[in-house]
Order: sequence, then structure tokens, then C-alpha cells
Amino acid sequence: MNYNAHFRCFRGCPGEYSVYDVIYTCPHCGGLLEVHHDVDALRQRSAPDWQTLLDARAGTTQWPYGSGVWAMKEWVIPDIDDDNIVSMYEGNSNLFWAERLGRQIGLPNLWVKLCGNSHTGSFKDLGMTVLVSVVKQMMQRGSPVKAVAAASTGDTSAALAAYAAAADIPAIVFLPQNKVSRAQLIQPIANGAHVLALDTDFDGCMRIVKELTRDNSIYLANSMNSLRIEGQKTVGIEIARQFDWEAPDWIVMPVGNLGNISALYKGLKLLVDLGITDKMPRLVAAQAAKANPLYRSAQADFAEKVTVQAQNTSASAIQIGNPVSYEKAVQALKTTNGLVEQASEHELANASALADKTGMYTCPHTAVALAVLFKLKEQGVIQSHERVVVISTAHGLKFTNFKLRYHEGTLDEVESLYANPPVNLPADADVVRRVIEEQLRY
Ligand SMILES: *Cc1c(COP(=O)(O)O)cnc(C)c1O
Ligand SMILES: [Zn+2]
Repeated sequence: MNYNAHFRCFRGCPGEYSVYDVIYTCPHCGGLLEVHHDVDALRQRSAPDWQTLLDARAGTTQWPYGSGVWAMKEWVIPDIDDDNIVSMYEGNSNLFWAERLGRQIGLPNLWVKLCGNSHTGSFKDLGMTVLVSVVKQMMQRGSPVKAVAAASTGDTSAALAAYAAAADIPAIVFLPQNKVSRAQLIQPIANGAHVLALDTDFDGCMRIVKELTRDNSIYLANSMNSLRIEGQKTVGIEIARQFDWEAPDWIVMPVGNLGNISALYKGLKLLVDLGITDKMPRLVAAQAAKANPLYRSAQADFAEKVTVQAQNTSASAIQIGNPVSYEKAVQALKTTNGLVEQASEHELANASALADKTGMYTCPHTAVALAVLFKLKEQGVIQSHERVVVISTAHGLKFTNFKLRYHEGTLDEVESLYANPPVNLPADADVVRRVIEEQLRY
């Protein structure tokens, strides 16, 4: 079958561009592009045949189809050479039944999609495998591209550095100084990227990288590049696959630049278009109150895009005031009867701790989504009988300082309701026994 995919203007201007061209925005209107697939061609294969094909591939060692992303190669970048694919077998992350936490909040059908259980510890791997693979093919065919570059709140740079290193392509990353965790900072350093820490915030880094990538020799790897979206869209498809090809009622996720929620929607919509699922979940975009431009736009019914100066939040990967994929996210929310809700520092930190007490190890962004879920459940917007998936975007191990400070009780604006600090004791069995008896009494 001759499947194909091209860039088109998201707003619908005429024109089609190769995914191997260095182009990020529509030459007519300056808006974002999206990868457009020939859905009619894809529909030539029946829904059950697609399901069987994907089920047979994902999680195997069959190059490159064992990857959760490349299992869907025909839906991602159909014509790329398998030899040019740069994959670390991303995707196939566990969808975990959060039974104990769900019971505590009256939601027995609560699931957490652990996207942080992946190569660099965040969902950013899903998009980066696609972008770096396309760049590899471009370079092999004589494109002027010499390096890839991205502004990052920490996880994008980690993923870009790892995939670029695997492909032996130079990577340049721009990080806001002192605004990413130590674990996130060391990842691109270890992978040999050029790490530039700028004296600004994420939005400032974004301005600089856009300026530098006007030159076609440096390829822009931020999510305004819609190749990232093609990889990230596989998460919604994978969730449906893990429920035996059924969509859940709700999906709640933390959002910053709004690429990921746009991607989630695009994947779920493809499943409906191909007749594989018949239902669209309602999407919930969860924001930190300290960086809430989408929440503010939603308050005014998306009449216009709001930008803010993002304030410091523990959810540093979503500390973004001017989200690039705003228009795509608004479409995703409007079409799915979605919602936007926010969480304070106090709410997110305690949501994280409560979830951790049930065995999870949540990152602060996942905690924003959980805090928002708790609110919507309490308000009766999300109901007890519904199946809800929370997308956990990164691994908690990247955010040790956040957790340490929570349990020390030193996070700003947070009262640590579930603090569990270590107890320092002399090596004396009687003293130890007394303390344990005391502690187990509660
Ligand atoms: C990038 C990121 C997000 C936000 O995704 P967007 O596409 O920018 O909305 C959320 N959580 C984590 C951990 C991230 O790294
Ligand atoms: Zn356009």
C-alpha cells in the first residue's frame, strides 16, 4: 500500500510540504504545520487488521516495529527507511491500575499511564525518536542540516541529547539557568550535547532558539515542529490498545507548551477516523496556577490567546507563559468537550505525596494532573463509575529535590500534610523499639 504523509498548514492554507524539508511554519500565515496523512488510503485496511498488526508488533524485538511508536509506522512517517530510524524502543509504557489511590478518592476505575518509565524518563522520547529519525534521513540525503537544537524546561533537552547521541548528530540545548532539576541538567551533559544555560526563562530560551534556527543548518526540535507531535500522538493510541482498543471516558494530563495534548487528540482522532474506536474521551488540561495561560483563556471561552509571565512552580517542566501549540490545543479541547483546571503549589505537592503513599513516585507535573482530578471528582464533574486515565509525564526520580523539600516541609506556599521525615536515632535497640512502637500506633 502506498501510504504517505506531508506537512500542511494547521489553519488550512493551501500547500503541501515534504516532511524532509526544513520548514516549521506555514509560509502563508505563519501558523503551525501538521503532518497530514492520507486517511482514505489507511482505511483500505480494516480496523481489525490494523489492531492485529499493531498487537503483533509492539513490544517485540522486530526492528523497528517493537517500539511503541514505530509499531504504528504507517500512521507516523510511513515512507521513512527503517535503516534511518533512531529508536530506543520507546513507548509500550505501563498503564497502571491505581487501585488504592482510586479507592481513596471514590474512583475505582483510575489508571495512570507511566510515560516517565522510558529511556530518558519522560514522554518526550516519543516525539524525539520521530524527529531525530527524519533528520537522519535528511542528512543522509544531502540536506544542509548539521545539528539539532531545542529550548527546554529539562525533559526535551534530555530526550534530544540522547537520540541525537545515538544517531551521532550534534545537539544544542538551551536551558533556563537554575530552573531545571539537577537530574535534568546532567542528562544532556552526559550525552555529549552542547548545553547552554541562559540567564532567562523558558520563553526567553524559545525566542533565542527560534532566532538561531532561521539558519537552515540548525534544525529546530521544539514541539512547534510537528514531527514531535506525530510521535507523541501514539500515547493515546497505546492507551486504547492497552484497554483492548477501547477509549477511556476521561484523560487528564499536565500541559505547558500544549504540544502533548494536541498530539493526544490527534492520535485518538485517527483511531475514530479508522473506525477502530467509536468514542472520544473528554480531555482535561491541568495547569499550575503559577503558569496558567490556557486556564485564563478557557475562563474567557477561548475568545483569545492569553500569555502570562510564568512564575516559579515546582512543576518546572510546565512553567511556560506563551504556549506555542495554543490553537491546536483549543481544537482538542473544544472537540472533546474538554476542560481546563489549575492547581496551586499546595495542592500539587500534597497530591503528589498522597499518590506516593499509595506506592507511586509522582513527578510534580503528574501531581498537577492528580490535584486537578481530585477537584473534578469532588465537584462531581468526573463521576465514580467512569474510567479515567491520568498521564504521568515524567519519572519522579528526576525531581528528588521537590520530594526532599516536601518531606522537610520547606517548599514555598506548601503545608506538607503528609510529611514523612526520617528519624535520627542513636544505635540503641531500646530507643529504636520505643520509637517504632510509637510510630506504629497511628
Ligand atoms: C514537556 C512536559 C510537559 C508538558 O508538555 P507540553 O507538550 O509542553 O504541554 C508536562 N510534563 C512534563 C514532565 C514534561 O516534560
Ligand atoms: Zn497557513
